[in-house]
Order: sequence, then structure tokens, then C-alpha cells
Amino acid sequence: MAGTAIVWFRNDLRLADNPALHHARSAHDRVVPVFIEDSAAEPEWARGAASRWWLHHSLTALDQRLRQRGVRLVVARGDAEAELIRIRNASGACAVYWNRRYEAPGVARDRQLKKRLQERGLTVHSHAASLLFEPWCLRKDDDTPYRVFTPYWRRMQREWRLPDPHPEPRRLNGPSRWPASLDIDALGLLPAIDWTDGLRQAWNPGEPGARRSLERFLGLAVADYHHCRDRPDRAGTSRLSPHLRFGEISSAQVARALQPSGELPDGKGRLVFLSEIAWREFSYHLLWHFPDMPERALDHRFRSFPWRRADDYRGDLEAWQAGMTGVPMVDAGMRELWATGWMHNRLRMIVASFLTKNLLIPWQEGARWFWDTLVDADLANNSQGWQWTAGCGVDAAPYFRVFNPVLQGQRFDPDGDYVRCWCPELKERGSERIHRPLSARESSQLGYPTACVDLAASRKRALAAWQGIC
Ligand code: FAD
Repeated sequence: MAGTAIVWFRNDLRLADNPALHHARSAHDRVVPVFIEDSAAEPEWARGAASRWWLHHSLTALDQRLRQRGVRLVVARGDAEAELIRIRNASGACAVYWNRRYEAPGVARDRQLKKRLQERGLTVHSHAASLLFEPWCLRKDDDTPYRVFTPYWRRMQREWRLPDPHPEPRRLNGPSRWPASLDIDALGLLPAIDWTDGLRQAWNPGEPGARRSLERFLGLAVADYHHCRDRPDRAGTSRLSPHLRFGEISSAQVARALQPSGELPDGKGRLVFLSEIAWREFSYHLLWHFPDMPERALDHRFRSFPWRRADDYRGDLEAWQAGMTGVPMVDAGMRELWATGWMHNRLRMIVASFLTKNLLIPWQEGARWFWDTLVDADLANNSQGWQWTAGCGVDAAPYFRVFNPVLQGQRFDPDGDYVRCWCPELKERGSERIHRPLSARESSQLGYPTACVDLAASRKRALAAWQGIC
């Protein structure tokens, strides 16, 4: 098929292994790469500030790479249908290609959009690009969705087959007439007052940055991943999450890099790492089958859980957000998040348990804060992670498993290096005491708060609340 095709980039900001781009280019002479900022259509989950920062830089990197291949990114803002029609009218395109998304509002909009674009004479092609298995593919023998990770992961290993790779195009041809485009700056994704220094130091958004993170991880850490993945004081994980979130690298590319033959990887570190990628798949599987997961507890009993009231917990929530609870592991995690837009998985569990159990604050408050501050904020993973830790998901840590942040610190940050890095007030404290909350005297000496809650008493209060709904 000749003619021009629009490639609509969304959560797939890469050139390599991009099925929409690959198929558009194979079937048409010319392509128009497009990004449309249409988040106003989904106000309840509009991108948070850290994600917007990432998106700005990722779009800039994508545009640069497209220009190196002879085309450019057409940037637009507003209603997707109106913008796609405008771009079609200007470029003479006859088809639109995109890669699928899986959150309920996005799915509904894509369905409707497909119909309306077809009515207006465009052919529409949607492709699978983000996951190893489409969320509806793996089902239990009784044809119901999986609700527990371990059997899901076993099933995935039994059915293991990687999608075919899509090579990166070396050269692309653009339309003879380019549609008008906004500058990326005009999307206003960067904050008015620049607080992003820590993000700039920590990250390199875009496809080349994603590849470098993967290469570094494969070279230095993957073999010991199963030993080191729980240690926030070591660089034991891949830090690929924001790159995967924005589709700067596909999970299939990661799986192929683990085992180039395309089979299941050899070696414990590699296989455990793949199982974490499978957690991402599982989160999408749950989001697809339980679309209200971002808002509502999947365990119905928790819909009447006696959380504290907002006017009562406001001060504690602010202390948690600011990393000033007086519980060193919690504060270190929350400060890392604020500074870099990322937090180690072990810390995500510790701070989420502390918020929902010790402070008895609804998990949705924590999920919202993460949504705004994480560079990897992802509706499936974030909602699943919060429901898992709060004990209210389908495959959740039992509610009575309350993480003790002091013991967690002693176990996973045994020398206290992680806490010392993010809580400099505590840098002179020895390893044996660094994870313990301070006495009032120590607190005034060191300028670090006493604990905002008694860990043992608040644990008991949480368990009593839980028994009330069982
Ligand atoms: P690695 O350990 O190197 O893992 C590789 C990849 O596997 C990750 O990049 C991620 O895509 C996936 N992965 C790893 N662990 C998990 C997991 N538990 N669940 C789902 N996928 C996983 N992850 C996000 O990507 N976005 C979020 O918004 C998010 N919110 C979370 C909230 C809570 C309360 C919790 C407990 C976890 C959350 N996670 C989220 C999952 C996990 O913490 C991060 O994916 C991980 O810390 C990212 O670091 P990494 O890339 O170095 O991970």
C-alpha cells in the first residue's frame, strides 16, 4: 500500500521494536510521526509533575532520533480526533497506526476513535507493543482471569514465546507537506519554578538512556539480582521502570537481552529479574480485568475499612510526604522519592505499609502522591503495588503483615548507608542505632523529629481495625 500513514506515539516513545512504526513504514511510502497531548480527556489520572518532566525530555529525545532519520515529530495538543483529522488533511495521510493502551478510559476512547476515524475515511491499525502477553491472553483453565501471581507466572513460563522483533528503521520518508506542529516547550510540561535538578542528575530520559540502563544492569548487576534486589544501599536493580513506563524500551527487548535465543533465561538472577517483569504483566492483567483497581479496593471487605478521617490525618500525611515522620527508613525513602522521582521497591513497600497501617491513612492518598512524584508513575503497577501492600488487593500481602521499618532497615540497610544518604541529620549515628526513632533529647540535638506515631501501638490499632472487617 502506498501513500502516507500517521504514526501516533503514546506510551511507546521509541523507534526500535515499535510495531506501529514498523508496520506503517512497511505498508506506506511516507510516515508522519505524531504526539498529541490530550490528557485533558482523562482529568482524573492526568500525568503528575514528575511524569510530565520525563515526558518533555523523552519527546525531545524522540524528535532528535526521528530527525536523524529524515523526519520529525509533529506535536499537537487537544482533542485527539480533531488533531488527527487536521494532520490527515494537511499531510494527505490515508491511515493511522498506534500501539494499544490498557487503562479503561484510554481503551474506551481508542475504540470510539477508531470507529470515528474509519467513518472519516482513514484506515486504523492498532498493535501490541507494551507487554509480553496481551492482558487477556493468559487465563486460568476455567477461563477466568488469574488473581494470584504465582500461578500466573507459572502459566507465563509454560506459554513462553516472545513476540517477533521489529527492527529500528534507518531512514524514514516524511510527507511532501508537513502539518503545523507545536514546539515541545509549548506543551508546558516543565514546571514554572524549576525543582527538577535532582531528576536531571538521576536520569537520562529517552531511548538511548533506556539502552544504557539496560546494558549497565546486564553488565554489572543481573547475575546477583536475586541477592541484591532488596538492598536499597546497593545498585542492585535495573532502574528501567520509567523507561518501560514511557515505552522507550519494550519488555520484549529486555527479555531478548536477557536471553538472545528468545527462550526463558538461564541463571537465577536473570530468571528472578524476568519474574519482576512478569509482575508488571500481572498488574496489567489485573487492571484489564478489574478496571476500577486504581480507585477501589479489590477485596470488597476493605470498602468499609475504618480509615482515619481526612481532617484527623492531614498533618501525618504531610509529614509522610515531606519525609519528616521521625522513622528513618520511611523518611529516607520519601526523601529519595522527592529528590529523584524514584524509590527502591523495598522502600515503596515500607512507606506504603507505614502509611496504610501505622498511620491508618487510606491507600488512595499514598497512590495519589506517588502518581504525582514518581517518574515511573504507572496506573497498573502503582495501583497494584498499593493494593498489595495495603492488603486489599486480589493477591495481596495479608493485612496483618505490618512491616516494621526498624527491623526492615536493620535487615536491608544493615550499615545504615541508605538512611545516612537521605537523612544527613543522622549521619553521625552508628549502624546499630540509625534505624531507631530518636528520643526527645536526641531529636533536639540532631534537628530530626521524634516518631509521629508509636510503632507498636499503631500496629495494634491497625490489627484491631482489620479484625473489625473480617
Ligand atoms: P527492577 O527490580 O529492576 O525490575 C525491573 C522491572 O520490572 C521494573 O522496571 C518494573 O517495570 C517491573 N517491576 C519490578 N517490580 C515490580 C512490581 N513489584 N510490580 C510491578 N512491576 C514491577 N512500578 C512502576 O513501574 N510504576 C509505579 O507507579 C509503581 N508504583 C509502586 C507502588 C508501590 C506501593 C509498590 C510497592 C511498588 C510500585 N511499583 C511501581 C513496582 C516497583 O517498585 C518498581 O517497578 C521498581 O521499584 C522499579 O525499579 P527498577 O526498574 O529498578 O526495578
